[in-house]
Parts: sequence; structure tokens; C-alpha cells
Amino acid sequence: MQLIEIYNNIFIDAMSTLELGQDWKIAALTIQAHVHHFLWSDIMDDSYYMKIALKEASKAYNKGEIPVGAVIVENGVIISKGHNLRDNKKCVIMHAEIIAMEKANRKKKDWRLNECTIYITLEPCKMCLGAIEQARIKRVVYGTSAISSYDKEVENKMIENVAISTECSGLLNDFFRNLRDKK
Ligand SMILES: [Zn+2]
Repeated sequence: MQLIEIYNNIFIDAMSTLELGQDWKIAALTIQAHVHHFLWSDIMDDSYYMKIALKEASKAYNKGEIPVGAVIVENGVIISKGHNLRDNKKCVIMHAEIIAMEKANRKKKDWRLNECTIYITLEPCKMCLGAIEQARIKRVVYGTSAISSYDKEVENKMIENVAISTECSGLLNDFFRNLRDKK
């Protein structure tokens, strides 16, 4: 939606509130709600799905795996979830993202996931990012950064969800701290 359309909608809504004989305060609240939604809706939604990805990461944690979780969302609906199972499955490709993408492919009976957003608690590795590109996933939202290097085109797709970042990195730090303590 264009910015001008958004402002028009806000104005029309506020005016119709006034025409209905309601208080100007309600009209002001209507405007405020619209502006708030416009400014924050994406970030709010991203954090909601990121928290579900974080729950997936906890499942990996409880299985002794590096805690990484992924959720795939299409038009606001969660179509698949996955968590890291590399050690449990003794399989190098069993990263959270790959598991979630495989489930989404089966569900949609299609390898293309071009209308989807993937939420991952950790910035994806090159293997997963390659698969994300192959699946033509529209948006990639991750919880916390990993040390890696990507080319510019791929970088432009990536959005760090700073609101949940500390929780995502906290779980990883906790896992590795425990691992060090056991040694
Ligand atoms: Zn990966």
C-alpha cells in the first residue's frame, strides 16, 4: 500500500467517526491506532513469529542440540516449524531451516515458497541461505547474528529482528556455557 493511500484511509476513518457524532477524542484515537499500526505492525508480527521460532530452538536445546529454531509463515499463517537436529539425526543438513522448508514443501506440494517469510533464531549459514534462495522465500527474519559473509544481493533480503535478539543469543550463550562447564 502506498503511503498516500494509508493517509487517505486514516483520514476517511477519522472523518466518518466524527460524522457518526462521536467524540473528537475517539477520532483522535482512531488516527493514533492507524499510525501505530502503520509504524509497528511489521515489527510486532515479526516478534510474534520469532517467539515461536524461539520455542522451537528450546526444543533443540532440550535434546542437546545447538539451539536454533525456524518457522515458515505464509500470509500470516504458520505452515511449518523446525529445530536443529544435526546430532540426533547424525545428519549434516538437519538444520532448523532445512527441516522447516522440507515440511513446507510437503505441505504445499511445491518446492517454491515464494510467498513465505522464514523466521530463524540465528542468522542462517550458507547452506541454508542457499536453500532459502532456491525456494525463493520472500523474507528472511533472524534473531541474532552469526559471523558470516554474504554477497550484497542476499544481504538485502535479511532483516535482523532486534526486539527478540537478546533472547535468541541468550539461549545460544546458555547452551555453550553449559557445554564448557561440562568439560
Ligand atoms: Zn544452516
